[in-house]
Amino acid sequence: MKFYSEPNMHIFKTVKSGIRKKRLLIAMFDNNGELETEDKSLIEKLKIHFKSNESEIDPKTEPVEEHKKEVPQTIKCNKCDKTFGNKGLLMQHYKKSHPKKGK
Ligand SMILES: [Zn+2]
Repeated sequence: MKFYSEPNMHIFKTVKSGIRKKRLLIAMFDNNGELETEDKSLIEKLKIHFKSNESEIDPKTEPVEEHKKEVPQTIKCNKCDKTFGNKGLLMQHYKKSHPKKGK
């Protein structure tokens, strides 16, 4: 089976040996960005990340959109009831509206 990727790309596998972790080179794409292997376990791994001559569906190379839920965070002033979108605004408000005594 043949896979396609960036030329000269090295594929590593992290192996635990005792406490240490080792990175083993398990495959390498050639100058043309091609890699041919019959190693089934390797094929299974490569299939997930790389295009092959047998793959019909494009592998998941496109960036996965992260749907970060943006929770509007408001910070409430503990000296009055005003709320602020961020800490900076709160600090400004503090300085303006609740200046420290004794200066
Ligand atoms: Zn306040």
